[in-house]
Amino acid sequence: MSLLKQTIESAGSSLERGEFSSKELTEAYLKQIRGLNGPLNAYLTVFEEDATQAAQRSDERRSRGESLGPLDGIPLAIKDNICVQGTRTTAGSKMLDNYVAVNDATVITKLKNVGAVILGKTNMDEFAMGSSTEHSAYGVTKNPHDLARVPGGSSGGSACAVAADLCVAALGSDTGGSIRQPASFCGLVGLKPTYGRVSRSGLIAMASSFDQIGPLAKTVKDAEILFNAIQGSDKLDQTTVEKRETRKEKRENLHGLRIGLPKQAWGDGMSDGVRTHVMEGVKILEALGAEIKEVDLPYADEALAVYYVLMPCEVSANLARFDGMRYGRREAGHSLQLTAYNLFDTYARSRGHGFGPEVRRRIMLGTYALSKGYYDAYYRQARKVRTLIRHAYEAVFREVDILVTPTAPSTAFKIGEKISDPLAMYLEDIFTVGVNVAGVPAISISCGLHEGLPVGMQIIGKIYDDASILNIANAFEKASR
Ligand code: GLN
Repeated sequence: MSLLKQTIESAGSSLERGEFSSKELTEAYLKQIRGLNGPLNAYLTVFEEDATQAAQRSDERRSRGESLGPLDGIPLAIKDNICVQGTRTTAGSKMLDNYVAVNDATVITKLKNVGAVILGKTNMDEFAMGSSTEHSAYGVTKNPHDLARVPGGSSGGSACAVAADLCVAALGSDTGGSIRQPASFCGLVGLKPTYGRVSRSGLIAMASSFDQIGPLAKTVKDAEILFNAIQGSDKLDQTTVEKRETRKEKRENLHGLRIGLPKQAWGDGMSDGVRTHVMEGVKILEALGAEIKEVDLPYADEALAVYYVLMPCEVSANLARFDGMRYGRREAGHSLQLTAYNLFDTYARSRGHGFGPEVRRRIMLGTYALSKGYYDAYYRQARKVRTLIRHAYEAVFREVDILVTPTAPSTAFKIGEKISDPLAMYLEDIFTVGVNVAGVPAISISCGLHEGLPVGMQIIGKIYDDASILNIANAFEKASR
């Protein structure tokens, strides 16, 4: 078997049988990155030396019979808003061009503790704001299925790296769809865990009440392995919870499973190709024994509006720290002309030049919505509707066990197609944001190709029931192979 084209599972068993070493595997991926990263632009930073050394240590452990489990020696990629100690972490922004992370994010500590090899950091929309990676300060990432198209975003670099065999699997972050939509565009599995299952410590915050780290992988099993490795409560993130479920029995068939198709999601908001393929996916679930019914999910139509009020408010607060003083690149004056800016000018110029247009737009929107006189009309109102949305999800999950929708309204779009129309870009999130507003888990899994481009189906689960959607996606994947 080729050293590339590996899954965590297949590479793990080859390492176990001694068919190749982690060093050989890691070097094969590094070579692939050297050859392909130029045109694809998946990675912003590659850790040639650290990765090789980590692989070597893994081989030594294995030779002593002390393997640390399924991720020991497996080469992974990490989105560039997740801190890896002592390495550059840009979050796709010029603001953090020279920022070197002072410690490991909790998810990185966990991955290092189980022996994973970190190949490098992947490209993303600036501070995770976007759906295409076109908002990165470091150039767009290409979709490996068609280089004229976007890989989705904001975790587009991670999705591209997995799909183009520049790593075995990767971590992304999802605030409104940023793991699932790129997974859909690149033909992968992407899991947005229940809010609170994975620690956000060391994740550069976008909108803290929505952000969640999760896996992008080639198979459901791989996504599950990564999720199990990174999840769990963490004293550094008070919103995390202790694991509330134990492993569920794997299910081969879906007898007794009640699947809801929210009528709000199945209107005319999607392309015909997407509708046809996701419907075929639903038929596979039905053939496995599930009962399908249309359900009502009130306020689903309002979720996008609620997200685009609350998210910018949180962005405005979270990004206030990047002022050229506490964090971020500083523009303090012209040293040649011996002129120094005053404090306000230093802030204004540092922020004005450090942030790109999309980030500036959201900071302004959020600051406006939080300002005196507007707070009640926008922020408080949106918080109320968020509660209604949560209740609507709770209610629908008394009627059915999971919900199925498309992940994105279309397949991967062309580079440049939506960049000058923010509303068109925001509509990419129409099927995914409700999940973040409600805090429930969801997975995107590929359900076929339309005109050569992957289509993603989204399976949404009950809060803390990440295991069930993984199991159901697993049964689907087996049946659709
Ligand atoms: N596309 C959405 C946005 O631009 C989601 C981003 C994300 O999940 N990080 O906000």
